Amino acid sequence: MKPTITIIAPVYNEEPVLHELYKRISGIMDQQEDSWELLLVDDGSRDRSAAIIAELHEKDSRVKGISFSRNFGFQEAVTAGMDFSSGDAVVLTDADLQDPPEVIPEMIAKWREGFDVVYGVRTEREGETWFKLVTAKMFYRIIHRITSVNIPLDTGDFRLMDRRVVDAIGQMHERNRFLRGMVPWVGFKQTGVYFKRDPRFAGEAKYSSFRRMFRFAMNAITSFSYVPLQLATYLGFAIAALTALAILVVIFLRLFSVHALTGQATTLVAVLFLGGVQLISLGIIGEYLGRIYDEVKGRPLYLVQEKWGLDETAVSDEKPESA
Ligand code: UDP
Ligand code: MG
Repeated sequence: MKPTITIIAPVYNEEPVLHELYKRISGIMDQQEDSWELLLVDDGSRDRSAAIIAELHEKDSRVKGISFSRNFGFQEAVTAGMDFSSGDAVVLTDADLQDPPEVIPEMIAKWREGFDVVYGVRTEREGETWFKLVTAKMFYRIIHRITSVNIPLDTGDFRLMDRRVVDAIGQMHERNRFLRGMVPWVGFKQTGVYFKRDPRFAGEAKYSSFRRMFRFAMNAITSFSYVPLQLATYLGFAIAALTALAILVVIFLRLFSVHALTGQATTLVAVLFLGGVQLISLGIIGEYLGRIYDEVKGRPLYLVQEKWGLDETAVSDEKPESA
């Protein structure tokens, strides 16, 4: 039977949290009237996460699972979850219990009121580094300014989506995905509920490295904005205008003053400055070009290795190996 609510959690090396996740979610959801399923997407974990998903599925068939052939990334894991979900509404949540399951009934209530997207707005974040908080705040402000989609401030991926939003996103096959932008882009009726983000239940965060956060920000910006490309144009005009002025000044000094400008330092500085600007512009074009290249190749977004409780006809009936 088709469940009303699908809860999706991407899982990457989350061995210590999975049992607790199941306990908290089932505890909350069993008090609700709606039927539910918990869909765990194992994103190529190297620990026992996949085996635990299989165990949980054995114990409670409402727990379903997919495992990837390797680590594809958070956005891909969530996308797979949405592709395989069957609920009338879908809730995305992190596996580490940073998004408290207690908020889900509030989201469902808003959905019943007629909203298609109910996102969780963080009022407070516990257990995050100072650096992450500041950069996250800056990131959301910048993205708000330079993109035309209305990405709500201080929201993560914790959200409920109606089936028609999930289907709409299913039609967006883009690579280097940025779901936090794709969901507002879809439109429909969207609203938020406030919650306090908890520290991770156990295990380690995977997104704390600066490189990963930078990639994430670049994907967000390039997916939704041309502003960086236009920057070169604006800067070009500004420098050209300044240079035109400078030419007049130089001519004036040459004709009417004995203090004609001499020296290589000025020339060198000007050349190096322009060289720098040109390299940056080329780099920005490169960022977009690389992403176009990714699109053109048209590779699948993820590859499934194993499934539990989903579309039984498609996979062999082999029992997953228990470690
Ligand atoms: N995650 C994933 N694939 C990855 C990295 C992370 O599926 O390559 C999952 C992870 O298991 C967790 C969620 O994405 O459920 C958020 O990850 P994490 O807690 O490390 O990030 P943070 O909360 O620090 O943003
Ligand atoms: Mg986390």
